[in-house]
Order: sequence, then C-alpha cells, then structure tokens
Amino acid sequence: MQTKVLKFGGSSLADAKQFRRVAEIVRTEPSRRYVVASAPGKRFSEDTKVTDMLYDCYHLAAEKKSIDGAFAKIEERYNQIISELGLDFSLQDEFDKIKMSILHHAGRDYIASRGEYLNSMILAEYLGYDFIDAENCIFFFENGVFDSEKTNEATAEILSRHERAVIPGFYGVMPNGTIKTFSRGGSDITGSIVARAVNAGIYENWTDVSGMLMADPRLIDSPKTIDVITYKELRELAYMGATVLHEDAIFPVMEAKIPINIRNTNKPEASGTLIVPTVENDTGSSVVTGIAGKVGFSTITIEKGQMNKVSFISEVLQCLTRHKINIEHVPTGIDTISVVVPTDQLKGKEEEVFASIRRHVSPDAITLNDSIALIAVVGRKMVKSTGTAGRVFKAIGSAGVNIKMIDQGSSELNIIVAVDEKEYITALKAIYSEFVK
Ligand code: ADP
Ligand code: ASP
Ligand code: MG
Repeated sequence: MQTKVLKFGGSSLADAKQFRRVAEIVRTEPSRRYVVASAPGKRFSEDTKVTDMLYDCYHLAAEKKSIDGAFAKIEERYNQIISELGLDFSLQDEFDKIKMSILHHAGRDYIASRGEYLNSMILAEYLGYDFIDAENCIFFFENGVFDSEKTNEATAEILSRHERAVIPGFYGVMPNGTIKTFSRGGSDITGSIVARAVNAGIYENWTDVSGMLMADPRLIDSPKTIDVITYKELRELAYMGATVLHEDAIFPVMEAKIPINIRNTNKPEASGTLIVPTVENDTGSSVVTGIAGKVGFSTITIEKGQMNKVSFISEVLQCLTRHKINIEHVPTGIDTISVVVPTDQLKGKEEEVFASIRRHVSPDAITLNDSIALIAVVGRKMVKSTGTAGRVFKAIGSAGVNIKMIDQGSSELNIIVAVDEKEYITALKAIYSEFVK
C-alpha cells in the first residue's frame, strides 16, 4: 500500500462543514497518512481569508493601531470551527501568545504563518493524527532560498516516526530561527515537499474545483477539465495565472516522478486532473492542453538602426535587472527589441530606467506601452502539429483584437500573445472556442 499525501486548500478547511468533508475523504483510505493544511479560506465570495486577516493585524500593529477587533475576529473563526465540530479543545493559549507577538512587532511571515499553524492543530485533533510543526521540517538558507536537501532529510526522518500526521502548509524556518513563508498559495509546495519526503505513491491536492480546467472558470463559462497534463505544461499555465496549483509545487516531486492529482473536496467522486512527468500513448486529447493569462504588463520598445544585436540586448537587459525589474519576454526585430515587464515593478522607475538605457546603448527611440495582457496557449502536442499558431492568430483577429506581440517558447510547448488589457477576455474567449468545441 503506497502512502498518499493530501493537501487541503483554504476553502476546503474554511468552516466545520468543510472539516467534516475533509475527515471523510481522509478516512476513506488508510493509505491517506499525511495531511497538509492551509489556513481557513473564504466561506462565501465576500468573505476574508484568515491569512489576509493576519496580514491586516500585522499592518495595524505596524501603524500602532489597535488589533483587538481584528484579532478577535480571527479567534472567532477558529472557535466557531472547534465548537461546531464538538471538540473538547482550546487554542486560547496559542491565541494569547500570537496576539502578544503581533503587539511586539513579530515578523510579517511569522504572523501570516499562524493561519495554517492553528488550523492544522484543529485538524490533527479532529482526525486523531499527530501535529508536526513545519518549523521543524522545512528550511530556508540565509538568503531566503528554500533548502531542499536539508528539508527532505529532516522531513523524512521526522515523519518516519509518525504513522499519521498533519503538517501546516505555507511556511518553514530560517537559519536564525525566524519563520519564513513561501509566496501566496505556498501550501501547495509544502504538500509536494511532504510527498517527496515520504516517497508517496501520489500527492493529492484537494481544492474547490474538479481539477485543472482548460481556462480560468472565473473568465470562461464552465471550461472543460484537463484529464492529464505534464509537469512542464502545468508550470507554464500556473506561472501564467492558472493559480489552482502554485507554479513551484512540481519541483519537490519532479525528481521522484510522483504524480499530483488535483481533486475537488466538494465533489470527491470526480477523478480530477493527473499531473505526470510524461504522457505515454498520447492520443485523443486536443492539441491545446490549456489557456491562461495575466494582466498588468508593460512593453518597452527600443529602436536602433544597425545595432550589434548581442551586446545591445545584453546591455538593455542589464539596465532592467539592475533596477530589479523581471524580464518576462524579449521579442526582437532587425532594429528593435521589446522587453515585456510587470508594470508594478517599473512604476515610478521609468525615468531612471530609460536614462540608464540611453546612457548605455544610445538608442534612436524608446517607447513605453502600458496595460498589456499576456495570454499563454499551452500544449505538449503543439510541437508535432502544424498550424496551431495560425489558428490562435486567426481566432484573435476574427474577434477584432489586435495582437501586440507574439512569442513562441523554444520548447514549442507554448505560444504567448500580448493584447491590450481591454481586449483580454475577448481574446481569451476567442482562443478557447477555436480549440474547444
Ligand atoms: P486552494 O485554496 O484550494 O489552494 P486556490 O484558490 O488557490 O485554491 O485555487 C483554486 C482556484 O483557482 C479555483 O477556485 C479557480 O477559481 C482558480 N483557477 C484559475 N485558473 C484555473 C484553472 N485553469 N483551472 C482551475 N482553477 C483555476
Ligand atoms: N494561506 C496561504 C495563502 O492564502 C497559503 C495557501 O493557501 O496556500 O496564500
Ligand atoms: Mg491555492
């Protein structure tokens, strides 16, 4: 019997009713031995996630405002879960300790991490599983980079001594003992770390949709579920906005080739999406696996006649990296290059950055375009089929949308197009209906 590791997201653990569903899922199979829990998420669409409530407390304390009201609401959320589950269990000592730490200006990450810490304690109590604090298993280097080797060794060693356990997601510890979190949605990474450490047969990631869908269900009406997807395709889609799984969550399980199964806590009978290293006998499915997109980009276009391309491009890119601006794409023409960057990273630095580019490469012109959306069309079969790019462009063109940039990854796993933000959803819908009949 191969061990299964399960991660439950915030909406799967948002209230007592959801806790009961989770317990039923866990108890259905004895192989479901290790459970990673998120903080309570939204119970309804206008609700606030506990993680966001904790960030609010941090900001209130930093501004020397009272946290009494805000913190009482957090206590209330947990106490309601405890009482509705009928548990004879109190988190009062933990609440008092955390509140005191916030008032003493504890770190932002420590405060945010308490959402999963407290929720995991309740879940462990409810399931009758051991509680293992992630601060004893998950480690970061001094520079904030995740220490995969030390983490794997420690997690494997600790869990070998526990038959069944709940581990809080989202955080680990720095060499100096302070708590550090992954980026938002990071409990997915913790689940993957635990799966690798116990050499699980499968990592089940339980959420509020029946798997990875071919497009964002908030933008496209009832998109189809993707049955099988490769790690690489998943990463492309996740990075480009399909946030159902954190884009870095595949790394811990990748080497051990452990498959990830995205499942719906509210519909456990659905088989969900299987994320695998490679797909054998790849017949039947569409040439496009999924479509994702993000808004909030700018393009900087730099023109210079008869530029020496190699040094020109490298100088321009260095100007941007020196200003800590991420470079998303670099489409080039004969005498031009465009650099696509996140608008929020460029904001306020435009003049400095342009001056630096002028100093280093003396361009003929620099132009800036804001309000750009990027759409990624991803599919492992694109490499073997012709005409996919043509179909993407035709679909967008027929919808009356102008394409501002095109970039095809050299792996031929994706085609990226840039359009004006105002036309983002129209373009997305056009591509979806071209490939999904
Ligand atoms: P959890 O709290 O369980 O980790 P998330 O909110 O992080 O859940 O991720 C699930 C959500 O991701 C879905 O409710 C859905 O709105 C959103 N989402 C965006 N793109 C996709 C997609 N392509 N497929 C499925 N869900 C998607
Ligand atoms: N609770 C954290 C967040 O809201 C981590 C997670 O849910 O995965 O981002
Ligand atoms: Mg998530």
